[in-house]
Amino acid sequence: MIEFSPWPQELAARYRKAGYWIDQPLTGILDAQMAIRPMAEALVCGDRRLSYADLDRLSRNLAGRLAQAGLGHGDTALVQLPNVAEFYIVFFALLRIGVVPVNALYSHRRLELAAYAAQIKPRLVIAARGHELFRDDAFADELRAGGVQTLLLLDEDASAHSLNHWLEPGADLPEGAGPTPADQVAFFQLSGGSTGTPKLIPRTHNDYDYSIRASAEICAVTAQTRFLCALPAGHNFTLSSPGALGVFHAGGTVVMAPSPEPQTCFDLIAREGVTMAPLVPPAVALWLRAVEEEPARRAQLATLNQMLVGGASFAEATARRVPELLGCRLQQVFGMAEGLVNYTRLEDSAETIFTTQGRPISPDDEVRVLDQDGRPVPDGTAGALATRGPYTFRGYYRSPDHNAQAFDADGFYHSGDVVVRQGGYLRVVGRIKDQINRGGEKIAAEEIENLLLRHPDITHAALVATPDAWLGEKSCAFLVLRAGVEKLSPPALRRHLLDLGVAEYKLPDRFRFLPDLPLTAVGKIDKRRLRDSLATIAA
Ligand code: AMP
Repeated sequence: MIEFSPWPQELAARYRKAGYWIDQPLTGILDAQMAIRPMAEALVCGDRRLSYADLDRLSRNLAGRLAQAGLGHGDTALVQLPNVAEFYIVFFALLRIGVVPVNALYSHRRLELAAYAAQIKPRLVIAARGHELFRDDAFADELRAGGVQTLLLLDEDASAHSLNHWLEPGADLPEGAGPTPADQVAFFQLSGGSTGTPKLIPRTHNDYDYSIRASAEICAVTAQTRFLCALPAGHNFTLSSPGALGVFHAGGTVVMAPSPEPQTCFDLIAREGVTMAPLVPPAVALWLRAVEEEPARRAQLATLNQMLVGGASFAEATARRVPELLGCRLQQVFGMAEGLVNYTRLEDSAETIFTTQGRPISPDDEVRVLDQDGRPVPDGTAGALATRGPYTFRGYYRSPDHNAQAFDADGFYHSGDVVVRQGGYLRVVGRIKDQINRGGEKIAAEEIENLLLRHPDITHAALVATPDAWLGEKSCAFLVLRAGVEKLSPPALRRHLLDLGVAEYKLPDRFRFLPDLPLTAVGKIDKRRLRDSLATIAA
C-alpha cells in the first residue's frame, strides 16, 4: 500500500455515517455505466467515438497485460499524456489493478517528471512519443536505470513499447487483481506548489469519489451532458469538478479538445452538441473576444448551456458578460487539487453568481477564515483560508516538514488563499502563498528562484507576480548579479532555465536587475516592495 496521512477515526466514521464515503473504488463509476448504458457514448476524441463498453474493454485489456507483467498493489506509475481518450483508458486500467499513478501535465518537462519519479519511484511509465522528452530513448533509458520496468508510449510502433498494442486483448485480469481498498490511495493529484519541489497529493477512492458524486449533483450533470474537456485532462478541475469523472458518473459524454482555443472549441461545440464547458478565466476572455469580433459565431454555441469558470481570479465584469455574450449560464468554481471545492449554485441569484466563488460542496467541509495570529475573523473580513473535510487531504506525500507548516493542530489545511466569507459564500481576494497564478497555471516562486540561482552569475533571485490584463498574472524575476557582471539577456536566462528542464509556462515573463534585493525587518526578501515597484513602473 502507498502510505498517506489518514483522517482521524472519528472523522472517518462521521463521513461514512453521513453517506459521503461509500467504500466503493473509483472503478465503480465505470462498472455502474456498464450495468445501465454500456452502449452510450462515453468519449469523443477526434474521429474516435468510444462507448462505455469500449472504455471498459480497453481499460481491462491494458489492466490484464499490466498485471501479467507483474504490476499491481504497491506499485506506482508516472503517466504523461495529452488530451486523448487514452488518458481515461489508462487511468481506469491502473485503478483496476491498484497501481497508483501520477498524471503529469503534458507541458511538464524533464525537471518535473524527474521530480515526480524521484518521489514515487515508478515501475511503470506511460507517456507519448510525440513529447520532446520521449522522441528519442535517452530519458526513457534514464527512467529504466532508475527502476522503471515497463515503459509504454502512445504513437509508438515497436510493439513491445506501444501503448496501442497493450490495449489489444492479450491477458485476462488474474484472479485476485483489483483496485486498492477504497480507503487507500487511488492516485496522486499534483499540487500547484509553493515550495522548491513539486508536491504530490494522495487521493483516496472514498474521498475523491465523494467529491465527484457531489459535484455532479451540484452542477446538474446528467446522461445528456456533453462535456468539453479542453483544459489538461489530469487537472483536478477537468477531472473531478465535476470533470470528466463526474460526467462518466452520470453517464454523459466527454468531448476532448487539444486546447481551449476558441477556433477549435467552437467547431467542436457545434459538431458535438456540447452542453457544458469548464474554462480558466483567460480562455473565457478569448471566447468572449471571438464572439465580439464575429457575432455570427455565437450560433455555434447554441447547445452550450453551462460554463464553469475557475482556477484563477475571475473579474466580476467579465463574469457578467458570460451569459450576455455566450448565451450560457455561469457557475464559478474555486477549488484545489488538495481537496476543498466551492461552487456557485445554479439556483443562486445573479449577484451571487457574478460576485462570489461559491460555497463548499459538503455540509461537512469545515472552513475557517483566520487573521495573522490564527484567530477567526468576522464574516466580511479578509483572512487566510483553512479547511478540513471529507475530501480534503491530510498531508502531502512524504513531506513531513512541509506538512508541519501546511496543517494546523486541528488538521486544517492552510491553502494560502486569502478569502472573504459572507453568508457561507467565499470570495477569493488574495494569496499569502509564494506562488504565481499565471492564468490558472501555478508557479512556485521558490522553485524558479532556486533554478535561477544555479546560474553562475546570479547571486540573489526573487520571483513575483505582476498584474496582466490577459492572464491575470505574469511573473517577473528580480535578479542580483555577481560583481562585475552587468546584465544577462532575457533569452539567455530563459535558455538557462530551459536547459535545466523546467516547463515553459514557468519561465519568467520579465526580468529586472537590481544592485540588491530589499529586505523586511526580519531579513526576508521584501516581495511586496518588489511587486509595488513594478506597479509604479507600469503606472
Ligand atoms: P490547483 O490545485 O492547481 O487547482 O490550484 C488551486 C489554487 O488555485 C487555489 O488554492 C487558488 O489559489 C487558485 N484558484 C482556484 N480557483 C480559483 C478562483 N475561482 N479564484 C481565484 N483563485 C482560484
